Amino acid sequence: MKRNKLISIIIPVFNEVENVDPLLARLDPVSDSLAARYDFEYVFIDDGSDDGSFELLAKRATQNRRIRVLSFSRNFGFQRAIITGLLECRGDAAIQIDADLQDPPELFTEFLEQWEAGNDVVYGVRRGRKEGKIENLSRRTFYRVINALSEDHLPPDAGDFRLVSRRVIDALEEVDDYHPYLRGAIASFGFDQVGVTYDRSARERGESKLRWRKMFSLAIDGILYHSVLPLRFAIWIGALTAALMLGGIAWYVLGSLNSDLPPGLATTVVLIMAGIVLNALFMGILGAYIGRIYQQVKRRPFTIIAERVGDDAPTESAAQPNDEIGEPTHPRRDSGSEPPDGGIEPPD
Ligand code: UDP
Ligand code: MG
Repeated sequence: MKRNKLISIIIPVFNEVENVDPLLARLDPVSDSLAARYDFEYVFIDDGSDDGSFELLAKRATQNRRIRVLSFSRNFGFQRAIITGLLECRGDAAIQIDADLQDPPELFTEFLEQWEAGNDVVYGVRRGRKEGKIENLSRRTFYRVINALSEDHLPPDAGDFRLVSRRVIDALEEVDDYHPYLRGAIASFGFDQVGVTYDRSARERGESKLRWRKMFSLAIDGILYHSVLPLRFAIWIGALTAALMLGGIAWYVLGSLNSDLPPGLATTVVLIMAGIVLNALFMGILGAYIGRIYQQVKRRPFTIIAERVGDDAPTESAAQPNDEIGEPTHPRRDSGSEPPDGGIEPPD
């Protein structure tokens, strides 16, 4: 008999004890209704809760065979929670959903249809948001800014309610980022994606865990993830300042030759300006190198092979990063645990 496809539901949980049972009460009917074609696992990521969420989840796991619980040693934040969930799950596809039921599990059916139709990423697009005006506006502005700065295109109004295929999860394994930004990483992979509109409801129980401070640092992560434009900006400003100061130096030197300036002024000003020139230039140069280093250490997949035809090797999610243009690809990894040949494993 053909095995059902396994769908992983990834749920980050940070002090959501009141939401656990209501969530399960919504998830189970959906999973049951799709049981003919799909098996489900619920991967709960307890992100350092201290309100008994974990204990309750552990108890429910003994009663509901779909439940798996991974508990962090402390609060690591939403991004790391969901990424860990994706990397740990076993599904052929994974759907990520918040614990507070702001996003409807009933939409899974449509997500799965779109996935079966060949989309690697299916994301929920929020039609009506029952949140504050200021919050709405700041989110919108944030996505505009990121899209303007970014080389990757982020779907506007898409939240973190999404399905990703196994191929996306495999590509994600190649990403090694201390300040992860999942939405951006997925956008940068470039797989086929489609949005499904829905109404996002308000949180009914408990408080929002993403307070302003967290939202702000998420915004910074998003911007820095997507671009080294701020650095490049610094380089141009540096060059411009240096040019202006050089002009100023010339002007003062000529002025002092014509000796219509108070004694000593030209010397002082020229010394100060020369200092500024050196600073601006060398900061710019440092910035350029740091930008390079940043892009290199981010270790995004160099390329992603989505499909292979007439090739016995298993589908590899990525080739190796190699920045040198014109050089033959010579895969090399710095992390000690990897095989030195770049990890291209023989088929089993
Ligand atoms: N969450 C988490 N770690 C955190 C903050 C939030 O795992 O540090 C979880 C939280 O339990 C919820 C989801 O992430 O399931 C979204 O959080 P929240 O509903 O507070 O965000 P909002 O909907 O207000 O943007
Ligand atoms: Mg919420």
